[in-house]
Amino acid sequence: MTAKSPLEYFPAPRRSHFCSQCGSPVNRRVPEGDNRERDICDHCGAIHYQNPRLVVGTVPVWENRILLCRRAIEPRYNTWTLPAGFMELGESTAQGAARETLEESGAKIQLGDIYTIIDVPQIEQVHVFYLAQAVGPELDPGPESLEARWYDESEIPWDDLAFRTVASTLRLFFEDRKRGTFGPHHYTLESHR
Ligand SMILES: [Zn+2]
Repeated sequence: MTAKSPLEYFPAPRRSHFCSQCGSPVNRRVPEGDNRERDICDHCGAIHYQNPRLVVGTVPVWENRILLCRRAIEPRYNTWTLPAGFMELGESTAQGAARETLEESGAKIQLGDIYTIIDVPQIEQVHVFYLAQAVGPELDPGPESLEARWYDESEIPWDDLAFRTVASTLRLFFEDRKRGTFGPHHYTLESHR
């Protein structure tokens, strides 16, 4: 029992080499009636479609301040993010956004409307942020966050934000707040990062 477990990582781009149904090697080709290459198992017939992943999160507000979490995990360790994460099987986008907020910050929130829907095709993801009102200032960050805190607009660590989807969502939020109307906003982030 001396074998060390390798460093875990998140494969991107995603490639399958073996069929998850029967364990046989897969082949990459265009299935009949399709127009894209897929990983196909010629042993059991399974076609392994891959589709974009959904990241769901919130813009939690308490007395004009915004909740940010400092990441305790890669990628972007030690940078600040809105609470967000991959949607799990069997939950709705709203449930996922509320769950991620609780897990990463401990904040108790009332979920509002959808605020941003951001396509990020080069990383095969769609990010969705909901507006959220905190019911109190108490925070209790979980193991995925080094800390969580409420930020005034003037204190936002713009140079230390984890993702462009977070930065653009925050920028829109502060613009909208001046106007008094809040989204929803749908846009695409192209290339780099
Ligand atoms: Zn198979």
